[in-house]
Amino acid sequence: MEVGFIGLGHMGVPMVRNLVAAGMRVHVYDLSKPAMEQASEFGCVATNSVPELASRVDVVVTMLPKPAIVRAVMCGAEGILAHSKKGSLVIDCSTSDPQTAVELEGLAKASGQHLIDAPVSGGVPGAKAGTLTFMVGGSEFGFAAAQPVLSAMGRNIVHCGPAGSGQAAKLCNNLLLGVSTVAVSESMCLGERLGLSPDVLAKIINTSSGRCWVSEIYNPYPGVVKDSPASNDFLGGFACDLMIKDLTLALDAAHQAGQALPMTATSKQFFQLVSQQGDGQKDISAVVKLFKK
Ligand code: NAD
Repeated sequence: MEVGFIGLGHMGVPMVRNLVAAGMRVHVYDLSKPAMEQASEFGCVATNSVPELASRVDVVVTMLPKPAIVRAVMCGAEGILAHSKKGSLVIDCSTSDPQTAVELEGLAKASGQHLIDAPVSGGVPGAKAGTLTFMVGGSEFGFAAAQPVLSAMGRNIVHCGPAGSGQAAKLCNNLLLGVSTVAVSESMCLGERLGLSPDVLAKIINTSSGRCWVSEIYNPYPGVVKDSPASNDFLGGFACDLMIKDLTLALDAAHQAGQALPMTATSKQFFQLVSQQGDGQKDISAVVKLFKK
């Protein structure tokens, strides 16, 4: 199977590795030369532009930072939709917003292609292990056609509803990730001040009612989870600036829908503070530094 993949960042590289491991021939494109070189080293076919990539394959996957970039890569004379074959499938795995997903599906349909939104959860560990959750919005046809590609990268592939539903589910999930990262940071740092060992406290939380994905898999307190960004100077993982983007998208969607999100709004300010202090590219666990002794 010939697949195209655009966006070889923290998530894209391990996702592409799994496509190659599943026996697919993967054509890649990214603005970053080192990322392209890395992908070529494990068997991907480098392309020089979006049009070149789009015209070669039957399925294009995008894993890009934010809606404006997704639109730029999809639309216009140099975009995927202008160069993909008729009947081909575009799978946008970026975290974007429901409105963008609906508009892009309409544009794809008008030019004879299929497009689904399929944002992911599971972070870099899930991308590496091939255990991502895909939240899919779009037609039944697109959902079915995407199965071979998505199942090579993930374990739970859920059809959430029509176009935009995947992005809606993703925003609901990520606001919880943001809020719980701040909450676990508060708890771990209170424990430190009260003289508790971080390892003991994490063990207690993870067998008690405070347990959550962040406390267990992605604990922001350095040293608690080996090989996590928090244990590696907050490098790799999910950048604070991307979390700010996701929380802003959730707040915008809530504003349009008339829904109050006070915890999301407050959490966003903590990540904004981290970014303001120069750590916007560090992992979201860097928020713990605001509370640490
Ligand atoms: P990243 O910043 O590490 O990677 C983005 C990649 O896109 C970079 O390699 C960049 O060079 C490339 N890029 C940017 N503009 C481009 C363009 N015009 N053409 C081609 N390539 C371009 O981001 P990431 O952490 O891999 O996240 C990607 C997406 O996945 C985001 O939408 C993010 O919100 C979402 N996400 C991330 C995580 C995570 O844990 N990192 C988890 C779930 C979802």
